Amino acid sequence: MVETTKRDIRKLKLDELKQFFVEQGEKPFRAQQVHEWLWHKSAKDFDQMSNLSLPVRDMLKTHFTINHIKVDKMQRSADGTIKNAVMLHDGLIVESVLIPTEKRITACVSSQVGCSLACKFCATARLKRMRNLNPDEIYDQVVAIKEQAELYFNRPLTNIVFMGMGEPLLNYNNVLEAIHKITDQKGLGMAWKRITVSTVGVAKMIRKIADDQVKFNLAVSLHSAIDSTRSSIMPINDSTPLEELADALRHWYQKTKRKVTYEYVVWKGINDTKADAMALLKFAKIIPSKVNLIEYNNIDDPAFQQAAPEVLRMYQETLEAEGITTRIRISRGKDIDAACGQLANK
Ligand code: SAH
Repeated sequence: MVETTKRDIRKLKLDELKQFFVEQGEKPFRAQQVHEWLWHKSAKDFDQMSNLSLPVRDMLKTHFTINHIKVDKMQRSADGTIKNAVMLHDGLIVESVLIPTEKRITACVSSQVGCSLACKFCATARLKRMRNLNPDEIYDQVVAIKEQAELYFNRPLTNIVFMGMGEPLLNYNNVLEAIHKITDQKGLGMAWKRITVSTVGVAKMIRKIADDQVKFNLAVSLHSAIDSTRSSIMPINDSTPLEELADALRHWYQKTKRKVTYEYVVWKGINDTKADAMALLKFAKIIPSKVNLIEYNNIDDPAFQQAAPEVLRMYQETLEAEGITTRIRISRGKDIDAACGQLANK
């Protein structure tokens, strides 16, 4: 019985923790120490908190748990990419990925268990959405990858992308709280410019992040700038057609003055014509933007086949001719199903 009444200590704000210590007849500054252990030092259990006396640690143990994630399984790709299957306190699993390049080490993290969006080309869509991740569960994924970067590459973690499982803007408050902790000097102290949140394009939430003046880079998974095509592969487009997305992005740009990144996969017979590229060009000019043409990662559906390299070059030439920076991105970690949209495959 006692077990089930224990509270997750990381759900408490610093003030609440202070109040707890005062109620227990302890000095309020203990809260600061514990807070530092929990976030800045990422303590996984109370016994690590060496500047607290044993009785204080025991007292904490009787009231609280630290629901730290566990890396249940780690796989390394031939290209250095690491995929973690991460176990949450309730036994559910999400995935997060470490992507090393020459200049960067990027953590790709999940924001939800499963996903509700049902994009036809994405493996995560095959899992129904089970629940949102808590801020600490997102934070812990970053910490785990930061530790792996130091251990296996002897380099610091440089970037974070919310491109793992789930739709970050449908778990807005928790994602925001996690980003706050990641950027806070009392947390990981990383710069917001190093963080990118990728969204399917939830217009209402794009407006909200603009209004809230929230700081991170925004990426939108576009994949087509023609409504009928986009609707056929991304059901979100039925409720939020391109014009509505465009309006939200105009609003976002007006408030933030930042460039947006469009993510775009080119598939044979779906969006591989000059007209598709021209539609993207038109959309990409709505607000300042750049385009990442990302490689399709097979999820065993014959309807989706990566377009040929010439088609990607046609897209790139079409966009760059009008000044839109366009990069062709090769996938990493394909051999371990760690690439975009492959998480949850197998
Ligand atoms: N829900 C968010 C973030 C997760 S998906 C979003 O939609 O942006 C991360 C990126 O991977 C998105 O751009 C998504 O469109 C892309 N993606 C999904 N499945 C893919 C696949 N099979 N191959 C390549 N990219 C894929």
